[in-house]
Amino acid sequence: MLKKELEIFNFQDLLEHFPLRHIDRTRLTPIGSITPAIDFLQAAGRLVSLEVMGEKAGKRLVGQLRDNTGTLELVWFQGISWVQKNLVLGSVYLVYGRLGFFLGLPQINHPEIEAFTPDKAEGKNFLEPVYPATEKLKTRGLGGRQIGKLTQQLIAMIKERDLPENLPGKLVSQFGFPSRYEAIRNMHFPADADTFEKATNRIKFEELFIAQIRMGLIKSQRHRYSQGNIFSQVGDLFNRFYKDHLPFELTGAQKRVLREIRNDTGHGRQMNRLLQGDVGSGKTIVALLCMLLAADNGFQSVLMAPTEILANQHYTGLKKLLEGMPVRIEILTGSTKKSARNILFPALENGEVHFLISTHAVLEDPVKFKNLGLAVVDEQHRFGVAQRARLWKKAAIPPHVLVMTATPIPRTLAMTAYGDLDYSVIDELPPGRKPIKTVHRFEHARAKVMDFIKEEITKGRQAYIIFPLIEESEKLDYENLMRGYENVKAFFPEPKYWISMVHGRQTALVKETNMQRFVKGDTQIMVSTTVIEVGVNVPNASVMVIESSEKFGLSQLHQLRGRVGRGADQSFCILLTGVKPTINSKERIKIMCSTNDGFKIAEKDLELRGPGDISGTRQSGELNFKLANLLADKQIMQAARETAQSILDADPDLNSPDNLQLKTFLQSQKGKTGWSRIS
Ligand code: ADP
Ligand code: MG
Repeated sequence: MLKKELEIFNFQDLLEHFPLRHIDRTRLTPIGSITPAIDFLQAAGRLVSLEVMGEKAGKRLVGQLRDNTGTLELVWFQGISWVQKNLVLGSVYLVYGRLGFFLGLPQINHPEIEAFTPDKAEGKNFLEPVYPATEKLKTRGLGGRQIGKLTQQLIAMIKERDLPENLPGKLVSQFGFPSRYEAIRNMHFPADADTFEKATNRIKFEELFIAQIRMGLIKSQRHRYSQGNIFSQVGDLFNRFYKDHLPFELTGAQKRVLREIRNDTGHGRQMNRLLQGDVGSGKTIVALLCMLLAADNGFQSVLMAPTEILANQHYTGLKKLLEGMPVRIEILTGSTKKSARNILFPALENGEVHFLISTHAVLEDPVKFKNLGLAVVDEQHRFGVAQRARLWKKAAIPPHVLVMTATPIPRTLAMTAYGDLDYSVIDELPPGRKPIKTVHRFEHARAKVMDFIKEEITKGRQAYIIFPLIEESEKLDYENLMRGYENVKAFFPEPKYWISMVHGRQTALVKETNMQRFVKGDTQIMVSTTVIEVGVNVPNASVMVIESSEKFGLSQLHQLRGRVGRGADQSFCILLTGVKPTINSKERIKIMCSTNDGFKIAEKDLELRGPGDISGTRQSGELNFKLANLLADKQIMQAARETAQSILDADPDLNSPDNLQLKTFLQSQKGKTGWSRIS
């Protein structure tokens, strides 16, 4: 039971199943002295009335709790009959909950309530832990209270040596932390608020610090022991391209990132770098320059894209940029015909092909390289860690890996989440871009929005109209999209206007054809689901209309908006919603309308959704700590990171006696042993 519902597998897990909060049973607020300044209220009194009021949706159970100073209202909207059955009029109860006011009277909705015997509180000066439990466990009699009892018994049994210190002693004294044993005890049964806070700080620090040390170890071991191809020289290809083919001056940020990559690849260790840059910041050209660098040193490169559309677009775009250069670039996707593969595979294997643009099709076993030196993974959140590992195996010495992502992650968080990778960021957009103007419109203004698109098309521009994938059923989504498409068609009749449509149910060929028509300007409007979310680049498109935009998450909206604003023209993003978006979606839309800055948006996204959701880039567990919160505990995070860094700098393998406990702990955590199971 405990195991399934709460992921508690053994004693250690139980000890680390920390309380939600503590209740000080000795602290009662006299009802007469309640003020609105109180957030959570604990009071005791006699239950003098209990009756059902209102009807249907308004139906509720209202109780009155009276002490000798005043009356407090208790309100239940759910579980009414259960509460009625279990409370006894005239008895004295202890209640706890968030204080509210109704018509000037203090009340608590759905209070925690239990029979109160005054002597229970007297003389006992401890903070009682309240544990999280699930509804299912509660119905089986394993509520937070039972968990508390188990924990108490367990804590009474264990000794200091059962929870040995895992932080270096110097650290513990430097930060004035309680020992690990003390801290864990005090997390559950603290003597007072101050002890509890000290314990909390230590546990938070410990979580973040251990995570940093782990990732730091992975990174430093890779740096020291992994073998990497050496790109020692910048050769003819790179220089020629730079001089004669590069259509623009690189931004300062692009140059800096290139330097970082050159430095990484020049020293015989394998690069594993995350390149972050907002949509439109120009990551592709950086990738191409790296691929040229690889070619100059006799190595092949692969650029992996998450979709066929994107692979095709990269292929067409890069081929054009490379026109007249003595490099051979080919494409491989799921739709590449057998006949084409028969030509391509040997050419890859004997090294005639320098650059391969591909989807995950490159991971298949028959695809072999002569000497793969560099793998660029575009928009990596679509690629799993295991897939990346398969790529590594394509060469005797693992290729350098450059992972590019436009999913902006706040920098502090990126360093936490990707502490095992090297990290570069392009934090500057190419010059001359006009910021995209974003507005919110209600659906009933759709005709006006369509008129606006017409004006833009008259000026020679193109527009996207995006429909969400919202329903559980693919069929319904499809019907939605089709209805939308018919609607758009009614506004934009052929032959004056032509429309492309792309969605997940089409074959790759149909998708590609539709996409190409839009890229070439044969169609002025692209109606699509989110399949075009990532990477697609049509600089002439200046309008992005997002239907039912309240259904999208912030980072998705930002990605979609990034499809426009890629040319020199003023671009627009119009967020359509129904009349009554929820508070949360209103907030998202407000943020979208107020900023174009992907990093700001990412911060907000994180606040609204929590770190576990970061676009699935990492398994949520890797960013979800038991206690620490990456947003709220920034300072602890920073201290943990800096401390971990300096420890690893001084002692990269944790061999010094100072770090022995830490090392032992890390090793013990690999396959948690020595703890018997309780369920
Ligand atoms: P993303 O980082 O989103 O992948 P792209 O690589 O697709 O962005 O680049 C977006 C657009 O900006 C492309 O049309 C590209 O040619 C252009 N671009 C890239 N770097 C520069 C630059 N330094 N100056 C001007 N335009 C640039
Ligand atoms: Mg891109």
